[in-house]
Amino acid sequence: MNCDLPLCVVGAGPSGATAARLLAQSGCRRVILLEKCGWPRRKTCAGGLGPRAREWLDRQGLLKEASVAASRITSLRFTAPSGKSARLTMNREMAIVMPRDSLDAFLVSKAIAAGVDFRPSTEVTSVRQESGGVVVCTHGGDIEADAVVLAAGALNRAADKQPLRTGCAHSIMARFADFPHNPGEMEMIYSKNLSPYYAWLFPEPGGLVNVGLVAPSRRKGASLHDLFDDALENFFGWRPAGARQIGRRYGAPIRCPGRIGTVVDGRVLIAGESAGLVHCLTCEGIPYALESGELAASAIVRSITGGSRLDPLALRWYQRAVERRFWLPVTMSALYRWFVASPAFPPAAHLGTSPMFERFSAFVLAKA
Ligand SMILES: Cc1cc2nc3c(=O)[nH]c(=O)nc-3n(C[C@H](O)[C@H](O)[C@H](O)COP(=O)(O)OP(=O)(O)OC[C@H]3O[C@@H](n4cnc5c(N)ncnc54)[C@H](O)[C@@H]3O)c2cc1C
Repeated sequence: MNCDLPLCVVGAGPSGATAARLLAQSGCRRVILLEKCGWPRRKTCAGGLGPRAREWLDRQGLLKEASVAASRITSLRFTAPSGKSARLTMNREMAIVMPRDSLDAFLVSKAIAAGVDFRPSTEVTSVRQESGGVVVCTHGGDIEADAVVLAAGALNRAADKQPLRTGCAHSIMARFADFPHNPGEMEMIYSKNLSPYYAWLFPEPGGLVNVGLVAPSRRKGASLHDLFDDALENFFGWRPAGARQIGRRYGAPIRCPGRIGTVVDGRVLIAGESAGLVHCLTCEGIPYALESGELAASAIVRSITGGSRLDPLALRWYQRAVERRFWLPVTMSALYRWFVASPAFPPAAHLGTSPMFERFSAFVLAKA
């Protein structure tokens, strides 16, 4: 298909860069990708790409190239609220950690190579539907488009329909050098004061680590900085003592409502974290961002007939596709979050750290 209809994508994270690239690769010749920040930009994120994201990158033929800038993860150390730990090891790569500046620059470079017109430092201030099209307003002027993919992340002021308070968690993280750790091992620490969320240590390439935590937005008492100090002191023992923090700590909200809302509004499709597509317990949003960006591009391509006409009613396919793809994982993740917050979790997690369970998991993972 060759199509000269103007199409616009707002936000150059994994969802936006993917939607823009796949539209261009499908023959859409006028795809604009708008990003409010200068490029490359920093994004507060641990950059963990678990099996779902890895497999998606592999299917797209991107994993090998992406992995060059990533650290490979083969084991996970899980600490229960009781303080006891267990290690789950696989005899192959179970995840990769890719700093977000590298991941996002990589995905955007692929979009540019496919012919996308990428415009960094262009903030979208509003998105207005008109009969026959959408007007995307920026400080540099208005852009008319036949369809828009809104992929602006958690803080989505361009056209916010879902209030951020709903199902929102808060996070804080920092990067460190000289932080003793096992290369290839992710650490996840569950504790009562973060319940149902957790603290983590992810090894990055070059011997660095990122350390952070997620806490409920509606919590009493401690600030995120207090919780971070407490995590460094109590979760990692002697290890932070000789470590050197690189840059400052960064905080960010995470939009994880645990349900799928409206993702199609006329000619505007909402993708990634803007649509609340985030795992409620692990707070992973990259795999759902990649996949929803792909679905948004498919929805637009399906709604174009003859390369010159877009049927807005056909865009509704995207709502059904998102529900079909994400209803189960998002709902299950909301149930896990409920379970982890319940009094049943600490004893169950403690049991999970027993040597017998550790041996059983090692056996299962070896077969997986
Ligand atoms: C501390 C932390 C750790 C995390 N760790 C992980 C992890 O290890 N693994 C994982 O899978 N997920 C993780 N996540 C979640 C993950 O970062 C997000 O879910 C994911 O980035 C969502 O991708 P996205 O493309 O939807 O949005 P984003 O990556 O947020 O991209 C949105 C883009 O839109 C731009 N933008 C915003 N508003 C406008 C506007 N008005 N005009 C133009 N551009 C705009 C932003 O600048 C940004 O570049 C973490 C999140 C946090 C906060």
